[in-house]
Amino acid sequence: MKYHLFAALLILFSGLLHAAIMPRSAPVPGGIAVVPLTADTGRRAPHVYFDGQRVMVLKRASRWTAVVGIPLDSRPGAASLKIQTDGGQKSSQEFTIHDKQYATQRISIKDKRKVNPSAQDLKRIRREHRLMQSVFTAWRSQDEVPMQFDLPVQGPISSPFGLRRIFNGQPRKPHSGIDIAVSAGTPIHAPAAGRVAAVDNYFFDGNTVLVDHGQGLVTMHCHMQKTGRATGPHVHWGVSLNNTRIDPALFLPPDALAKLEEK
Ligand code: ZN
Repeated sequence: MKYHLFAALLILFSGLLHAAIMPRSAPVPGGIAVVPLTADTGRRAPHVYFDGQRVMVLKRASRWTAVVGIPLDSRPGAASLKIQTDGGQKSSQEFTIHDKQYATQRISIKDKRKVNPSAQDLKRIRREHRLMQSVFTAWRSQDEVPMQFDLPVQGPISSPFGLRRIFNGQPRKPHSGIDIAVSAGTPIHAPAAGRVAAVDNYFFDGNTVLVDHGQGLVTMHCHMQKTGRATGPHVHWGVSLNNTRIDPALFLPPDALAKLEEK
């Protein structure tokens, strides 16, 4: 009996600890804005939208708080959230996006098709893009969402988030995740509890697993050995929030982040 009470308290305590955790607020392109809502939104979580995408809302210190992923191509300045309460009242709230500059990297890729895909490849790329979008935009209601992640594999970061990449002299999209260098065959772990939403082999990303953690938070794990647009074996780890790819490092516990920065 005593044991059960202890176990119940432990679960409650870890639940409270979990509830207190938020990702680091970094309101920059590719970052996260943590925005406590000022409007009286009532007891039930309001629906909040940014750029037409539904946004995660968590209760912190008895206040509804929006956790917003900011696209890498956002301009610094004022941004606005649309809020709709359970009772149907609409309002908006502004927050500020600050500037951040990311480094540029030139990469040479031997497989020219991965830089300039053929018409056939483009068809496949578009199909895969739609498939991934359907996972990134799927809304799964969940009161609590994991806000702290473990690295899916242990290894040095071979390419950080946000790098502006030039493949074989041609500018392409900036890096939407972080690359962790590992030897081929290294097991990859889910960074937190969630539901596997897709397992597939994609043109650019190679063998990929998408995990849905709830409220629009999806992690992406791509193992690139021979497949995908890669220069060596590594795991590409991505985090999507409100269909926006953001810096996964924002979800790492401070000690894990410090270790990464030492390398
Ligand atoms: Zn990558």
